[in-house]
Amino acid sequence: MSEKENEKFDDELLDASGVISNKIPSGVDRRSFLMRSAVVGAAAVMTGQVVSARSRTLKAFAESLPEQNPAPPLSSDLAVVKKGKGPVLTTIDEFYKVGPGPSSSHTIGPMRITYDFYQRATKLPADKLAKATALKVNLFGSLSATGKGHGTERASLAGLVGKEPATVDPLFLDSLRDKPDQTFPVKLGDKTITVSLKDIIYDATKGDFKHPNTMTAKLMAGDEVLLEQEYYSVGGGFIEWKGYTPPKKNPPKYPFATMKELRAHADSNKLSIAKVMLANEMSIAGRTEEEVFAFVDKIINAMVATVKSGLSMPEDDVLPGPIKLHSKAATVYKRAMDDTYQADRGIGALSAYALAASEENGRGHLVITAPTGGSAGVMPALVYGLIENRKLPLQKVRDGMLAAAAIGYLCKHHATLSAAEGGCQAEIGVASSMAAALVATANDAESRVVENAAESALEHHLGMTCDPVAGYVQVPCIERCAFGAVKAWTAYAIASNEIASRHRIDFDATVQALAQTAKDMNSKYKETSEAGLALSVVLC
Ligand code: SF4
Repeated sequence: MSEKENEKFDDELLDASGVISNKIPSGVDRRSFLMRSAVVGAAAVMTGQVVSARSRTLKAFAESLPEQNPAPPLSSDLAVVKKGKGPVLTTIDEFYKVGPGPSSSHTIGPMRITYDFYQRATKLPADKLAKATALKVNLFGSLSATGKGHGTERASLAGLVGKEPATVDPLFLDSLRDKPDQTFPVKLGDKTITVSLKDIIYDATKGDFKHPNTMTAKLMAGDEVLLEQEYYSVGGGFIEWKGYTPPKKNPPKYPFATMKELRAHADSNKLSIAKVMLANEMSIAGRTEEEVFAFVDKIINAMVATVKSGLSMPEDDVLPGPIKLHSKAATVYKRAMDDTYQADRGIGALSAYALAASEENGRGHLVITAPTGGSAGVMPALVYGLIENRKLPLQKVRDGMLAAAAIGYLCKHHATLSAAEGGCQAEIGVASSMAAALVATANDAESRVVENAAESALEHHLGMTCDPVAGYVQVPCIERCAFGAVKAWTAYAIASNEIASRHRIDFDATVQALAQTAKDMNSKYKETSEAGLALSVVLC
């Protein structure tokens, strides 16, 4: 080493700022970059090499670039992708669905799909059906990657044998888990085919799929395919298929595609958001007010029932699956009731309600998509608390359910409700946002406060990834529902106490951020169980 080089080397040891370059190139994680830069500098010291600040910067930059694993784009011909154009046309019965947990996209969606295929198959001409020998279902993408943990094969088989999600006895699904070798006759015309779990095939997890939750169903005659359909479980229990066109609907009374437009209708007509939603439900679906509320009541009752059922489970109950997770809802509830302070009792009880409904989801029992199965503890916790604790009149909770639906519709319209597309922000984040709108509406908040509460709850879930341990919707999902419920209450508490017009972020901007974050999120964090907690937690 020359004398000049030696001097430079000594200087760099004296001046730490030279060892750690402080110019961080864009597109690079700051922490990772600084660490790499320090390592490069330290390696230079140890090996006696002189490395210029520029060389260190370039080397650290190269080594700090995140491993690129961009999410594959969704096919542009999916209705779920085209949906952002035009007014919101979703209706409440499409949105709130009752079905077996643990996942709207991995159990309710696949079950609806195979039930749909079963019905199509029954309509084939008798001569075709006479040749049929087998029914086969292939699961791809995320359905294959995490389907085992969700019981996707059991849900798919249940639909294939003609069972519907809203009415299936959860004990039937439990029996498929406990006795997996059972066979079932499926009657198609005069022909009876025998099916079993072996007919549900976990296929490729990676590939050029139109949607990460892709599956196919086939009716076979030996090697010949009599009927085949490709389907997509697009989130929240919604399904599409190749060539799908959304059903024709009536125009809404108050067309809106954004919260801004929805609030403008409410404010200019001196209506609440709930009343605007009610008018739209009636006009789009051609229903009476009584019919709309009859459905809303059914969902409210189902939510209350799921919390009650979860709280009534024994304290030492162990949820199905390899995690051997002990149920904690009943314990948390009992202990919360003994807390000295009222506020502690409130937060403890709200958490326990969310845990109760979410544990029911983990058991594969009936839950309500609000908006999904993984997030099925959030809304029921608030509904239960408002009805059982606050003793609010039913009509206020009904209105809250309509306002919450508006939030879910807008998130579906412009972003996603699918963890396979957007991570957990699209499930628990949307659920928490809906729950905040529910509480605000039930407490007679004005439309701006309802928006602000929903915005705040969604904002503080942005970026949340989906990484269920062992592919089971239990960790982090069950506790995450409790946090989603408490955050919803916090969002309402802030929104109802701040000066509403000073809230700087509007709901539409946050939904856009949700959509953009979903797009940018590494696909490992989208319900694949390949990263995050699913990777760092070792089960033994
Ligand atoms: S981590 Fe969140 S999005 Fe993923 S399965 Fe659990 S609740 Fe659903």
